[in-house]
Amino acid sequence: MTFSNFYKKTREDRINILKEEQIISNESADKLLNNQTLDVNIAGKMAENHIGTFALPFGVVNNFIVNNKPYTIPMVTEEPSVIAACNNAAKTIGKSGGFSADILDRKMIGQVALYDVENIDLALENLQREGTSLLKLANEAHPSIVKRGGGACDISHEIINFEDTSFLVVYLTVDVKEAMGANILNTMLEAIKPTLETLTNGTALMGILSNYATKSLVKATCTIDVSTLNKDILEARNIAHKISLASKLAQADVYRATTHNKGIFNGIDAIVIASGNDWRAVEAACHAYAVKDNKYRGLATWNFDKNSDKLNGELTLPMPVASVGGSIGLNDTVKIAHEIMNNPDAKTLATIIVSVGLAQNFAALKALVSVGIQQGHMKLHAKSLAMLAGANESEADIVAKKLTQEKHINLATAQQILETIR
Ligand code: NDP
Repeated sequence: MTFSNFYKKTREDRINILKEEQIISNESADKLLNNQTLDVNIAGKMAENHIGTFALPFGVVNNFIVNNKPYTIPMVTEEPSVIAACNNAAKTIGKSGGFSADILDRKMIGQVALYDVENIDLALENLQREGTSLLKLANEAHPSIVKRGGGACDISHEIINFEDTSFLVVYLTVDVKEAMGANILNTMLEAIKPTLETLTNGTALMGILSNYATKSLVKATCTIDVSTLNKDILEARNIAHKISLASKLAQADVYRATTHNKGIFNGIDAIVIASGNDWRAVEAACHAYAVKDNKYRGLATWNFDKNSDKLNGELTLPMPVASVGGSIGLNDTVKIAHEIMNNPDAKTLATIIVSVGLAQNFAALKALVSVGIQQGHMKLHAKSLAMLAGANESEADIVAKKLTQEKHINLATAQQILETIR
């Protein structure tokens, strides 16, 4: 009830509701009301050749249920309809209990690639024998993560041949606790590089974290009562059937799979950016995971169980995100985004993010196989078109409303409408 008609409220009212619901503190509410985002001086220390800060819309989705807990989801996106679609999916799936999500593991992998190893057998023998001392050496390079209960925990190797070159690649697995771990791993890998060169009598080409985070997998699922998809049960079953067909198409056709996954990242990027995490790392990991069977596939799958009248959704992704480190503690808006989610630890944050991806995919597929994507999208895009046409703040809503009643919702129509109301 608290959040009913949230989308119809003013920005100030929405912030006040978050405050009254104790989702954010008074101080955070004031910062939002004053649009006090990343401090320009801090920004200057975060990136190079700094000339200012760059803004994007920041919104929320309420009552998003993951593992029986309701969350408010912070989302940063420039695309109209993403937040509305996620909200819609949260509402529908919430009627069936929301999302369940499990962390399958939470470790990061790094690699040192060696070449010109003349005696591979001897190199492998030395690596095998010195595994424990290599782990110790890695941990000595970053003792604070060991004190936090994490650290390097596994080392393995593989020979990889390409054309006329043979690489001996050593993989280091590290428990990075609450961090994303790139800097932690890179420090450890560079520390063990000289010893690896000595042990293998080879040359180290590089030592760096791998963004293919296969030891940070998260699986989100949901089971939707088909009756909640439409008032007419036959139409509801038809939608469920068509969503499962759309899921199959995304497994079989790379053109569809790519768009299927783009829709998932509409939601994932929005929350990953809001949470101050490295979205390039998340994108790289997940797209690599999409091709794990040597064919690029849709990441989320849907199966309509006709016997139980349930639509079952599943999304498994590598989700190397952090609750600390990087720029997370520096940006005021990012801190508020974490507060909005009740400051989840890295594992919980990862479960929320993958669930958002599944929600976003559901919303896109449901629209695509029923009314089509444009009806809802263009309605929301109309406001952007109105402003692009030159409407000021008071004119924008009027132009947008009239625009949605037109056959051609485009910039030219928006300009014509603007002229008629001026
Ligand atoms: P940081 O270098 O910020 O390291 C994490 C920090 O968090 C450490 O200073 C650590 O302190 C602190 N910390 C506090 N509490 C905890 C806790 N409970 N668990 C773990 N750490 C804690 O970040 P990361 O090593 O995580 O690296 C991520 C950054 O690296 C991102 O900004 C990313 O964009 C960037 N990056 C990414 C690359 C890639 O993806 N390929 C490559 C290079 C950089 P303490 O040291 O005291 O333990």
